[in-house]
Amino acid sequence: MIFRQLFERESSTYTYLIGCEQTHEAVIIDPVKTELMGYLNLLADLDLKLISVLDTHTHADHITAAGALRAETGAVTLLGEQANSFCVSRALHNGDQIAVGKLSIKALHTPGHTDDSYSFILEDKGQTYAFTGDTLLIRGTGRTDFQNGSAAEQYASLFEHLLKLPDNTWVYPGHDYKGWTVTTIAEEKAHNPRLQVRDLAAYVDLMDNLKLPNPKLMDIAVPANRACGQY
Ligand code: FE
Repeated sequence: MIFRQLFERESSTYTYLIGCEQTHEAVIIDPVKTELMGYLNLLADLDLKLISVLDTHTHADHITAAGALRAETGAVTLLGEQANSFCVSRALHNGDQIAVGKLSIKALHTPGHTDDSYSFILEDKGQTYAFTGDTLLIRGTGRTDFQNGSAAEQYASLFEHLLKLPDNTWVYPGHDYKGWTVTTIAEEKAHNPRLQVRDLAAYVDLMDNLKLPNPKLMDIAVPANRACGQY
């Protein structure tokens, strides 16, 4: 597979470009609107045809490039059905498979950070890759205190789904604020402080007491993203 991890500094967002070596079709996960020209140039440089744009959830900290990429390339945009988005090309359901040439990406509903949070799971040449959005971060987990977030649902998404992926799964998160780029399921099970809780109640207690400020762009980004970034 063709793979690039791209970084947007303002919101510390990771965007992923995944392409099929044989058909040169590609998808982009979590693109940021201000980086649009960079994506279009990279697609051209790598001779890739963008067919789908995926957002892991309705973001509160940056504006998606989904709508702009659709307008520029004709790609379809996909976002979880729970988002109730009126503008996406197609709503994602748990278990959906998204074809990218010979590759297939599975949409796994992993609510908790938001109710519309999905992780995208891909297998290539015996290796599993998980694009976990803000559900599982490197040594952290996404906050659960707004946008229909739920610490209890996130606990289930983590412990009943993501942590059951193979230990050597490469985990690519939606953000990192310290410069980390990738991790594995085994590494997070052992060293992620949020995952060292004794049970569900302890996780809910931990998440309910984080006392984080709201994201700077929240009041702009959420309505913009409900309109596919073209608000
Ligand atoms: Fe988020």
